[in-house]
Amino acid sequence: MPIATVNPATGETLSTFDELGAQEIERRLAAAATAFHHYRTTGFAVRAELMNRAAGLLDADQETIARTMTTEMGKPVAAARAEAAKCAKAMRWYAAHAERLLADETPPADETADAGAVRARVRYRPLGVVLAVMPWNFPLWQVVRFAAPALMAGNVGLLKHASNVPQTALYLEDLFRRAGFPAGCFQTLLVGSRAVEGILRDARVAAATLTGSEPAGRSVAAIAGDEIKKTVLELGGSDPYIVMPSADLERAVRTAVTARVQNNGQSCIAAKRFIVHADVHEAFTERFASRMRALTVGDPMEETTDVGPLASERGRADLEELVDDALRRGATALCGGARPKDRPLGWFYEPTVLTGITPDMRIHREETFGPVATVYRVGGLGEAVELANDTPFGLSSNVWTRDPAEQERFARDIEAGGVFFNGMTASHPALPFGGVKRSGYGRELSGHGIREFCNVTTLWYG
Ligand code: NDP
Repeated sequence: MPIATVNPATGETLSTFDELGAQEIERRLAAAATAFHHYRTTGFAVRAELMNRAAGLLDADQETIARTMTTEMGKPVAAARAEAAKCAKAMRWYAAHAERLLADETPPADETADAGAVRARVRYRPLGVVLAVMPWNFPLWQVVRFAAPALMAGNVGLLKHASNVPQTALYLEDLFRRAGFPAGCFQTLLVGSRAVEGILRDARVAAATLTGSEPAGRSVAAIAGDEIKKTVLELGGSDPYIVMPSADLERAVRTAVTARVQNNGQSCIAAKRFIVHADVHEAFTERFASRMRALTVGDPMEETTDVGPLASERGRADLEELVDDALRRGATALCGGARPKDRPLGWFYEPTVLTGITPDMRIHREETFGPVATVYRVGGLGEAVELANDTPFGLSSNVWTRDPAEQERFARDIEAGGVFFNGMTASHPALPFGGVKRSGYGRELSGHGIREFCNVTTLWYG
């Protein structure tokens, strides 16, 4: 894939970039290693000042960077602004809390007495140079979610961003540089995915984090495994959205639409499979399809647009294949199911609601990365849980019920890294984020996220 900005709303190539050569990569690896040697000794107060400065600059740049993101990957510009604001918030959150989250821990003296220590402590020390392989769907947020905790912990970052968001990638390097982070602390490597193996195997790189598809995750994890290097993987999701009879149906419908079409449907934590109790199935499905049909599909730079184009031609083709396969095998499209006729240019797809899904359809097991919802009907809680878990993924889940006993059952039984009741899954700096099964492993955000790339060091004093 060439490194280029291609406007998904028109298909027009706006700028192309040369890949870094071997010498440039070597220079940057050396700079990262040198930077870590010094940066790891800085205190939290210094790092927090730099991080807060980056947050302030990002706030000031909000409009420009939002437009860059929309141009590069097609999200509605209002959502792009919100993404920039969320990044600044996360930076400030880690600036404020990193010292507390990484404070030394003292195990109870009576528990360590027979370890022969007069006293013992646990210290979270930084790990080193961390390679971040990141996707285009939230081109700022996915990176900041890694960079804010990593830098606050004293690590340094190398970013290999998706090839279709080079300008956002370069912006991020520039942002941290302008904030005053020492040279080499955060560098963008404009390279294709083929260069990842060499970088990851380099002895100066300590660990990697990847957000993206399963094949990309598998490849990076295999190489890192071979090198005995730590990884965190945040891969796909096919989150269930369960609606039980006690739900506030109007809110459940309204939220369902947002949960499905946020970011033009290209979010790992978007609700994708709508599992609805028979008692409310008809009412929910009718209202949901009607709201999905009413969404405005169009130019993502327009403030009134709800759903912009998919980020790439390949992405739209993948989505079309899944929908066409389902329709061929007997599914019904209550709305959508095709490209909008009035948008000949760009990679648009109509918001789609499918019913009559059967296990032989690809869409039953694969992730839909676009504005396509599947709706299922279930007879009770047990069946809802079974269907929710009948997926290779386990990122998050959404459950609408006001019954505390039901909430406990879902909290116990759903195989996912999150269960969100009466609302939709969203990430927040204070809450851990990540999945199980094919959705990956490790956690981002919160104290769990910042400790992933730390050397958990035992200090023993005789
Ligand atoms: P990819 O996983 O291919 O891309 C994500 C990142 O990984 C990019 O930086 C990409 O680089 C890099 N990459 C790709 N292959 C490799 C590899 N073998 N080794 C190292 N790095 C690699 O996602 P796509 O953009 O192709 O999207 C495909 C599907 O992935 C989506 O339909 C969706 O299902 C899932 N996805 C999930 C995301 C999430 O948020 N969890 C985000 C994006 C995608 P380059 O761009 O240069 O190829």
